[in-house]
Amino acid sequence: MNTVTLKPGKEKSLLRRHPWIYLNAIDRVDGRPASGATVVVRAHDGRFLARAAFSPVSSIRARVWTFDENEPIDHAFFKRRVQRALEHRTAMVTGTGAVRLIFGESDGLPGLIVDHYRAVDGQREQLVCQFMGAGVEAWKQAIVAVLVGATGCPHVYERSDVSIREKEGLTQTTGVLAGDEPPETLIVDEGGVRYHVDVRHGHKTGFYIDQRDNRALIARHAAGKEVLNCFCYTGGFSLAALKGGATRVVSIDSSGEALATARANVEANAFDPARAEWLDADAFKTLRSLHDGGARFDLVVLDPPKFAPSQQHIDRAARAYKDINLSGFKLLRPGGLLATYSCSGAIDALLFQKIVAGAASDAGVDVRILGRLGAGVDHPMLTSFPEGEYLKGLWLQRI
Ligand code: SAH
Repeated sequence: MNTVTLKPGKEKSLLRRHPWIYLNAIDRVDGRPASGATVVVRAHDGRFLARAAFSPVSSIRARVWTFDENEPIDHAFFKRRVQRALEHRTAMVTGTGAVRLIFGESDGLPGLIVDHYRAVDGQREQLVCQFMGAGVEAWKQAIVAVLVGATGCPHVYERSDVSIREKEGLTQTTGVLAGDEPPETLIVDEGGVRYHVDVRHGHKTGFYIDQRDNRALIARHAAGKEVLNCFCYTGGFSLAALKGGATRVVSIDSSGEALATARANVEANAFDPARAEWLDADAFKTLRSLHDGGARFDLVVLDPPKFAPSQQHIDRAARAYKDINLSGFKLLRPGGLLATYSCSGAIDALLFQKIVAGAASDAGVDVRILGRLGAGVDHPMLTSFPEGEYLKGLWLQRI
């Protein structure tokens, strides 16, 4: 039996049900567990703690499947976990064709992401998966079979083109896992707005599903307003603002390809293209030049890429967040609203708020917090796994 025995005292985080076992917590490994093999994790005194997936090269040397000594890791285990995740989504998520079905550790399946897209014409459903740990990689075939069985969707595509796999000793890979090659684009409906999703080449699995509630927030507050959406990608927030009745939406992104899809989204919704302006440009410079040119907005959205991919990037990332938020505040009319986000896991909600507060102060504006924002209910967070919170936002008003 492959067994991982921890150093004295290192069992504490597992007893609090945190699912990661770091290399430096391990006293010894008995047996020769292969990548992804199931190991029993024991405290130094021999007590059972968990069953986990072994990852021979990662500093997170094992990820917990179960804390229950009586639960074996087999096909039935994955079926139960997937079923539990699906029941939560069915009960909680409605009115959208894009849902995260499995959110890794938060659903008891460390390293696994599964998104489900349903096209508007009802012709096509598509599952898109990311396998980001040695354990889920080893169980890939079983997981795909369980997903197809549980959802009834025959088409499964893999988007494991994420650099984090290299930390697990895995190479990046994409391709069909079940069913047919995905169509070039799927059109999904979210809250009455249609979005093009390219599951093969789009960011993440094709769409920022996590921002659903935040798009709805923008739609609710956009009527009659001039809106600026910075880092717009395929126009998620821009389309929501148009749907909500914005008079003018200016959107910035440095990807011409993303902007082409954004324009196609305007067309797919039959919105008046004259209400939408798309700037293919660097956001940092453009925010400043808009301000210098005297532009002002009633509603600004700042949803940049992950500026801090890890702890060592925090300082530089903090300066970048401060820079764009400073410009964002300066571009707001008095009474104007700002939705500002960070998806850097390394920057927690408190630090993000401090950075934004610093930006407001430097901009010389008084700002009140109307709300704290995060990912939708299909990205739940375990109280025992705060690392699951990566997206945080602030909903602010210039007084
Ligand atoms: N807000 C989007 C997701 C943003 S993803 C949504 O809700 O769908 C980050 C986007 O920032 C990408 O589309 C990328 O092309 C763009 N980007 C990255 N660096 C940029 C820069 N310096 N200036 C403008 N856009 C940038």
